[in-house]
Amino acid sequence: MKRTGIFFTYFQGERLKDFPQALAGILDKENVSYYDAVYDSRQGLYYLEPLSEELLLKVHSRNMVQRVKLTGNYESALYSAGGTVQAAEKIWQGQMDNAFVFTSFGDHHAGRDFYGGMCYFNGAALAITALREKGIRRVAIIDTDCHHADGTRDIFVDDRDVLHVCFCYQDYCDDHNNIDIMIPYRTSDEDYLSRVEQEFVPRVVAFEPEYIFWEFGYDATQGEYGDKGLTRDCHPRLARLLKEAADKVCQGRLITILCGGSGRTVATYTIPRIIDCLAELGIYRAI
Ligand SMILES: [Zn+2]
Ligand SMILES: [Zn+2]
Repeated sequence: MKRTGIFFTYFQGERLKDFPQALAGILDKENVSYYDAVYDSRQGLYYLEPLSEELLLKVHSRNMVQRVKLTGNYESALYSAGGTVQAAEKIWQGQMDNAFVFTSFGDHHAGRDFYGGMCYFNGAALAITALREKGIRRVAIIDTDCHHADGTRDIFVDDRDVLHVCFCYQDYCDDHNNIDIMIPYRTSDEDYLSRVEQEFVPRVVAFEPEYIFWEFGYDATQGEYGDKGLTRDCHPRLARLLKEAADKVCQGRLITILCGGSGRTVATYTIPRIIDCLAELGIYRAI
């Protein structure tokens, strides 16, 4: 069994209202550790640490950090991105193999000097920066949120040691390992999954990263604001595919970060199934 860390923040909005209760049956498993920003006093749980400003300023400009402070969401953004940094460090220390990070504010629209689309700080970029100080160099990021990861691209555009494969609405490829794969306006689970299998898996195998970060958005699910026709079952199947890739190329080091998607029922259905897959629990029937 894999050792899986769950890093949880919930400050506002509808989508995570069923959590952490929806993880009942998962949280008490021996190979699962749960880190929570809010309920730090409960026995057996761990406290999720906010991000340090020192690390923040290695990725984002001081001016941008000041602007985020004025939004009123600064603290929540620190915990959101802090979960990803903590997950990366705990995996590096050998305390766990993979992780799922709940965020209140996502990652991939946050660049060096700009933020938007409910993304303030770029947790993946901050985690990669922290890992590099420990000697990790090569990292892959796969983005299955339906929107283009403009912030992540801005940060890593010139970095040949980061493979960034973004499934969005355009095709693009450069010699710095920045790749966009166009997903048509309407698609199906089968088409989507085979596109990821064809476009991401061979690239990540060839790239040989030490970690894989998965920017997991479910906004392309039917009924969501980026509806491309995917069913909610597509995401646990994606999890299986990416976990297998991580097991093959980087000893299973996979960090899943919650990005876009607003529906509560989709979140409540998909997230426990993704964690079930990561931790190899077998609670849910494989789809
Ligand atoms: Zn999105
Ligand atoms: Zn893109």
